[in-house]
Amino acid sequence: MDIHTVLKNVGALSSRFAAERNERQQRRALVASDFAALRDAGFLLTGVPVEEGGVWQDVRHSARPVCEILRVLAHGDSSVALVCAMHPSVLAVWLTSPEVPPPFQEAWAAQRSQVFRTAREGAWWGTITSEPGSGGDMAKTKAMARPAGGDGGYLITGQKQFGSGSGMTSYMITTALPEGETTPDLFFLDMRGVRCDGTAGVTLTSPWDGHGMAATQSHAMAFADFPGTRSAHPGHLLTRMEATGGFIPCAFTAVIVGIVEAAVEAARRNVARRRETLRAYERVEWARAEMEGWLIQQAYDGMLRAVEEGQEGRRRATQAKTAIAELAESATGRICRVIGGGTFSRSSPFGYWHEDVRALGFLRPPWGLVYDNLFEWSCATFEE
Ligand SMILES: Cc1cc2nc3c(=O)[nH]c(=O)nc-3n(C[C@H](O)[C@H](O)[C@H](O)COP(=O)(O)OP(=O)(O)OC[C@H]3O[C@@H](n4cnc5c(N)ncnc54)[C@H](O)[C@@H]3O)c2cc1C
Repeated sequence: MDIHTVLKNVGALSSRFAAERNERQQRRALVASDFAALRDAGFLLTGVPVEEGGVWQDVRHSARPVCEILRVLAHGDSSVALVCAMHPSVLAVWLTSPEVPPPFQEAWAAQRSQVFRTAREGAWWGTITSEPGSGGDMAKTKAMARPAGGDGGYLITGQKQFGSGSGMTSYMITTALPEGETTPDLFFLDMRGVRCDGTAGVTLTSPWDGHGMAATQSHAMAFADFPGTRSAHPGHLLTRMEATGGFIPCAFTAVIVGIVEAAVEAARRNVARRRETLRAYERVEWARAEMEGWLIQQAYDGMLRAVEEGQEGRRRATQAKTAIAELAESATGRICRVIGGGTFSRSSPFGYWHEDVRALGFLRPPWGLVYDNLFEWSCATFEE
């Protein structure tokens, strides 16, 4: 299967999801058959390199088509699309680093093959990295990792939250501070068949109850001596994250761009019908919503271009993600005002979309941290 076939297959599924929109927007949980259908559509291969039987080439060639798949999927179901965005984003840690410096190359290559094999064979990957009090900053990780059993095996203990796709994912990445070390590192957890009632070292402490992205199962969990496997390039969490080159914010943003497109399109039909009766205020709000929708498209294209060209990809992708987060909240809010008070009804899609797009500003790096980063990047250019 090639990436264009995956896009076509996912597009067909998304159209079916869109036809079921009202029921889907009221869901509070993920449905396994959606993920089986997406697996059959080839979606899992977005996290597997071409040479290992997948559809990922490199950031330059694959960021845009993978983001397109997520954008199109979000037309049909916001929560499913966000959970799906985690899969290639997490696997990007391995996808974007075919090689690491000696003496780690051999172990890294073996781990890559192992990780990609799981995805090829049907495993969904997700992340449960966020921790209470960390503000989305991995460097502030407090969870601990105690070596156990050799061969990169550890036991992880700590509080984690916002694990989108919990219960649906086979593997989750996380961060923890290895015993006796000063900086956190990356681990992955085998969650297959694990009961989250405390009997296996994982307790579901807070089931997800989001206003938006309501069916993402972004649960909070407490881990107690739960087995995890350490990155085979130990001690280089930041280097490996930097190597993803801005792809991760692009993937999150693609989902929100898809939601805004669906909202603008649905609103356009409503506005066209009511054209003669709209008040001046509603006309202005609609013109502004369309303007913001257009700016979102420009920023989305710009972030993908920067990532493809490797020109300050992370900085530009982070800027665009943040700008689009602000514009998407504004545009969908204006649309609600134009369409009317009925958007509060659960039978109208617009209020759901407005809440769903609010997720982008909180996704990594979340608001506070992102502005710290943007300011630091800017200061670095003063110094050059
Ligand atoms: C829709 C959505 C999906 C996300 N998906 C992921 C993901 O898959 N993996 C990941 O690592 N991070 C995920 N994040 C988290 C994100 O990347 C940031 O790390 C996080 O939003 C930073 O938040 P904060 O520190 O401002 O959170 P704060 O608002 O300070 O969060 C901390 C508080 O949120 C509350 N909280 C946390 N989880 C829950 C829950 N399940 N139910 C109720 N209350 C809760 C707790 O009171 C906790 O102390 C997601 C965030 C959102 C909004």
